[in-house]
Amino acid sequence: MELKDKKILVVGLAKTGVAVTRFLARAGAFVTVTDMREEEALSDVLAELSDLDITYELGRHIPYSFLMADLIVVSPGVPMDIKPLEMARAQKRRVVSEVELASWFIKAPMVAITGTNGKTTTTTLTGEIFKACGFETFVGGNIGNPLIELAESGQEVSRVVVELSSFQLEGVESFRPDVAVLLNITEDHLDRYHSFQEYIDAKLRIFENQTADDFAVLNIDDPLVAACASKLKAQLFPMSRLHELEEGISYRDGFITFSHKGKVLRFGTEGFKLKGVHNLDNIMASLASTLLMRCDGDCAYEAVKNFKGLPHRMELVEEIDGVAYYEDSKGTNVGSVVKSLESFDSGITLIAGGKDKGGSYEPLAPLVESRVSHLVLIGEAKARMREALGALTDTHEAQTLEEAVEIARRLTKPGGVVLFSPACSSFDMFKNYEERAQRFKAAVRAGKKGEA
Ligand code: ADP
Repeated sequence: MELKDKKILVVGLAKTGVAVTRFLARAGAFVTVTDMREEEALSDVLAELSDLDITYELGRHIPYSFLMADLIVVSPGVPMDIKPLEMARAQKRRVVSEVELASWFIKAPMVAITGTNGKTTTTTLTGEIFKACGFETFVGGNIGNPLIELAESGQEVSRVVVELSSFQLEGVESFRPDVAVLLNITEDHLDRYHSFQEYIDAKLRIFENQTADDFAVLNIDDPLVAACASKLKAQLFPMSRLHELEEGISYRDGFITFSHKGKVLRFGTEGFKLKGVHNLDNIMASLASTLLMRCDGDCAYEAVKNFKGLPHRMELVEEIDGVAYYEDSKGTNVGSVVKSLESFDSGITLIAGGKDKGGSYEPLAPLVESRVSHLVLIGEAKARMREALGALTDTHEAQTLEEAVEIARRLTKPGGVVLFSPACSSFDMFKNYEERAQRFKAAVRAGKKGEA
């Protein structure tokens, strides 16, 4: 689509909205930006755009602007079913996400990664492997730099790796990655979707425009992921930790085996710095994507061995008096906390809670019963979590994260583990999961000083 002189409405003015606005204005479009927040709340972002000629509609959405736009670009933070968007679609206005828009201007081969958990780890590692194998690579999407920044910069790259949330996938039209990865699907974001099925359907849109020239990497150990194999148009490339595969990537007895059209590569996992079974899934997904896209096996293996993982995902903070303190502030849903609990055999003091997302905490029950000695709950979700899990182990409540750390410190015996893996988002008590992580670390370290 030619953008010059088109009337384009950008909905939502956070990081992605700013990048989209900049791109469209530079391409010669007449850009209107709308956000429900008032001007005062947006002063920082408005300053970033002050050199451009833009029309702003802030503090409200004006239906007329939606109906008159040649194109509407929606930021990932804005639900696709808000009234003005529904009206616009009913009037045959074109409504797309930023990822869709960006994809119109990007020619380099692309790996797109989605799933409930593991996206950022897998996206980062996939980017690292491409780079180590000599490919000029852009890594972006949900992970930080919006994809549109690549389109705007005009940077020539030979590979693109994009992390996609379900929200970004809702607004695709022709988006077609060469390799699409689906890591897992467990309940999340039920505060934004009407049903779990709606969330699953959004995730599956990653495969929608693929053809037989493309690959779909599916974690077939996850029944919900495996179930979508029959609907694919792309070539299926399965991955499994539980079954050996003649075609696909699989794990057995300390080795990952990649098998594709008669080519077989084997990688010993012993020296990997990334720990935990879930990270084995992330590594297999990254290896599959990069090896399918012409990476050399030895280079790829070196990159995996060198990869240390990302902060806020099962990070060891300190060992104090024989107790290891792990920070997993990015454990914002039940599926990820299941994996974090599976990483320790027993003796866990789990600190959890935060902003409730409306899903069930039941999947945690067996692990809480068998491995968690003490449960300390914080935040808005306290009552619902206590109801689901409180009878299964020694359970406490705290008003603040600092108090929770103090309780955990008192209760946990040497040899045990204090794990902060909230299963909830952070917005009830903190600005974001990073701030929550910093507060946890500071509280842990304050305890250390107290001892000295
Ligand atoms: P995302 O970007 O999807 O949120 P991250 O890589 O940031 O994923 O990891 C988020 C959380 O999910 C971490 O707490 C981690 O322990 C857990 N996790 C990472 N990979 C997986 C996986 N493949 N399956 C289940 N949980 C995972």
